[in-house]
Amino acid sequence: MEKRDYYDVLGVERGASEGDLKKAYRRLAMKFHPDRNSDDPQAEEKFKEATEAYEVLTDQEKREAYDRFGHAGVDPNQGGGFGGQGNFGDIFGDVFGDIFGGGRSGRSGPARGSDLRYNLRLSLEKAVSGDTMEIRIPVLAGCGDCGGSGAKEGTSASTCPDCNGAGQVRVSQGFFSLQQTCPRCRGQGKVITDPCRACSGAGRVERQKTLSVKIPAGVDNGDRIRLSGEGEAGPHGGPPGDLYVQIEVSEHPIFVREGRHLYCEVPISFADAALGGDLEVPTLDGRVNLKIPAETQTGKVFRLRGKGVTQVRTAGVGDLLCKVLVETPIKLTEEQKHLLEKLKETLGDSDKHSPKGKTWFDGVKDFFETLKS
Ligand SMILES: [Zn+2]
Ligand SMILES: [Zn+2]
Repeated sequence: MEKRDYYDVLGVERGASEGDLKKAYRRLAMKFHPDRNSDDPQAEEKFKEATEAYEVLTDQEKREAYDRFGHAGVDPNQGGGFGGQGNFGDIFGDVFGDIFGGGRSGRSGPARGSDLRYNLRLSLEKAVSGDTMEIRIPVLAGCGDCGGSGAKEGTSASTCPDCNGAGQVRVSQGFFSLQQTCPRCRGQGKVITDPCRACSGAGRVERQKTLSVKIPAGVDNGDRIRLSGEGEAGPHGGPPGDLYVQIEVSEHPIFVREGRHLYCEVPISFADAALGGDLEVPTLDGRVNLKIPAETQTGKVFRLRGKGVTQVRTAGVGDLLCKVLVETPIKLTEEQKHLLEKLKETLGDSDKHSPKGKTWFDGVKDFFETLKS
């Protein structure tokens, strides 16, 4: 059977809005729903046809493909296309939710505005010390011209004549009498005859808002700061949503943070490691001296108590853990090489001077012996 044009199926113009599509599909689905047409086998076909058209045209990607390539662009038999009755429940819930008792009971007043999220990137230093920062966010704010009502200055919204302000109307469908959200006022109970120019009747306008955010000391990656009522304004003067500031801490060139502890690596010279010495190590609030004992091995971790981070929710300061890395000297002069040769001679083969060497060589010997046996 030759497929009909989706727009023709739904009886809408090519530029139809999502609202138009929904309305058209709803009308057809009501008419051809198989439950109501058990004696008409054609009805089910028509119902499926309308459902397919609706699903394709309300999916922006599929609609574009259909507009450019026709049915070939959205062949339901090709992978990823229209899945028969698979998504049927979703569509049905979407279109009919408010008719078949979709959780809406009576009027609940203007809806609350959306919550917003703002990703705030800050340095480790600021995360640890806390700060007050200014952020600029685009928000839908209540319209100043009409005070959020959406009605032109000097006028006001009037009671909806279809539902007399109830926001709900009763619709008779055969045996049933159903409660439905009033289509004229969309459940608001009021209609605007003379809309405000600044907001076109929406009661909200987009604004850039500058907010000062207090960042508590010790915040970490993924922490969220909630600014109550700083989200989007609700439509028609509804209460605003909240703004969530999500903390992202930049990587630090020296420190890695884990909870309340900070970690860093400190290179030390071969001579300092052997003889011991004073080392200057960085902390988040300045340099401190770290005494390196003689015979320090590479990889040794020194703990500087109280030089870590105070977390937001737990008391007590963490520590700074410095791992020393013994460096092999490079670009040696002839003289230095000569001195090292002499040092090597005096150290000899004795494992007296190599704390790890003996256990390591013994381990290797045992390993080869077990291989042989
Ligand atoms: Zn109404
Ligand atoms: Zn306005």
